Order: sequence, then structure tokens, then C-alpha cells
Amino acid sequence: MKLVTFQNNEGAEKIGVLSASGKTVIPVEEAGLDFNSMQELICRGSQEDFRALSKVAGEKEGCPLEDVRMLAPIPSPAQDIICLGINYMDHAEESARFKKEEFNGERPYAVYFSKRVAKAVADGEPIDGHFDIVDSLDYEAELAVIIGKEASRVSPEEAAEYVFGYTVINDVSARNIQMRHKQWYFGKSLDGFTPMGPWIVTRDEINWPPKLRIWSRVNGELRQESNTSLLIFDIPFVISELSQGMTLLPGTIISMGTPAGVGMGFEPPKFLSSGDIVECGVENIGVLTNPVK
Ligand code: MG
Repeated sequence: MKLVTFQNNEGAEKIGVLSASGKTVIPVEEAGLDFNSMQELICRGSQEDFRALSKVAGEKEGCPLEDVRMLAPIPSPAQDIICLGINYMDHAEESARFKKEEFNGERPYAVYFSKRVAKAVADGEPIDGHFDIVDSLDYEAELAVIIGKEASRVSPEEAAEYVFGYTVINDVSARNIQMRHKQWYFGKSLDGFTPMGPWIVTRDEINWPPKLRIWSRVNGELRQESNTSLLIFDIPFVISELSQGMTLLPGTIISMGTPAGVGMGFEPPKFLSSGDIVECGVENIGVLTNPVK
């Protein structure tokens, strides 16, 4: 199922499911459910609720997609997003080159950091480049995993049970701010730096562990192209490692890192400018397209 958050004609925030045709959105009320947000559905939705949603998605049509305003599937995450840094080998190399650091090809431990998201940017909405303080705006196409139930001391073998679904995130980054402050937090967390969506694809629709093509384009030019099978630390490992001593709550978003081909990886770098169109895609999940403002 593809689960969406949208605004109806009256401006109210609603959640729904995409019909089997992929052309219309069916509000959850049509399945007899009463959830006001994706977070609520993730936390409190029962197996029976999801069966009801799946049934209406297969049988009905709803509001045409062009008539609703899509929002990011989790517009205001309850907690900061947990991000993986340099989690594809080819990106580890380009990133070390840009920072003029040594890289010996070894990645013994995962790099974890977080990203603040006051309000995630929907598919189609502009990314604010904050060009008054940013001189090196960059894109990072990423597969994001959404945790479905409280995870504590989970083994890699059990990790799948804790996954609610997946979405696409563009981990927009201001390289000048990211490097300047040593910690990446500020440079990754400016308002509008988290395009997310267009929807959440539920876990049952994707083979485990996900081996999916991932790519990005800027103004139509292919910049990143890889596969999530090349993650250095994969989803089962990450859920297991983080949950040893740190409880992951339902609705937790983990963004799995980006492959090579980001702007800073080119010589000279290809940073984003106002008017650029950035597309980030993951096979079987969706494509997130945002202009730079
Ligand atoms: Mg990233």
C-alpha cells in the first residue's frame, strides 16, 4: 500500500491510501477508520485496520491526485530523523576527496547523526536554498525506513518485523555550514532541508532486505545511480545496532545514507542554484521532485 498525507479542499490535513490505479487518494474514513495523522496510524493501526485499507485501495477510487494537495507523508516527525553518514563506499571516497581527508577504504563502524525537521517538504514543493547563508547547497537521494513498533534489543533477524514502511528523502545539505560546525546537525537541518515522499510504501510490498535502484537527477541530468544492496551497513544491521541500548519508537525515521554523485563529489563541485529541479528516486517506492527556490 501507498499511504499519503494530503490536504483536502477545506484545507484540513488528512491521511489516505492510494487506489490500485495510483491515480486517486482514498481517505482512511472510507475504510471506516478514524486516524488524524500518519503518526497515529503508525502507532495505533491494527492488522485489521490495514486489511480494511488494503481492501478499499483495491476496490475503490477516491479524489484524483491532481485535486488534492499532497503533503510529506510525515509532515512533522515526532523526533529528529536518524541519518546514516557515508554509508555507500563510493560516496565515502568522494566525500573524503572533497574534505581532503585520507580514506583507506575501511568503514568499521556506522556514522550516525541526526537531522531536525520542523516541517518536511512535500513532493513538488520548493526547497528553500537559504542563499543568504549557504554557498554550497547539495542534494542526497536516500531510502528512508519508518519504524512501526517500539524496538529495543532487536536482532538483525527480527528487524523486519519492526519496519512499518519506506519513503524517499532528499537529505539536503549546506556543505559550508555542515563542515564549519564540525557536527553536521545545523548544516543538514535548515528549514525546508527535508523533502520527503511522495508517500510511504508499506513493508509488505518490498522484498526484504530492500535491494532497490536509487538515483537522483538535477535538471534532468543523472547525478547519482546506485542500489541499496550496496549499503555498507544495511537496514537489519542498523535497526539491530541502534536498538541495543536506544529504544526506537514507532514513527522513527532512519535515512540510510546516499550514494556517490552528490554535488560536492564533482570537480569542480556542482552545487544547487535557484531554479534547479532536483529529482530523487527509489525503485518501487517513488520519485520526489522539488525545485530550488
Ligand atoms: Mg545523507
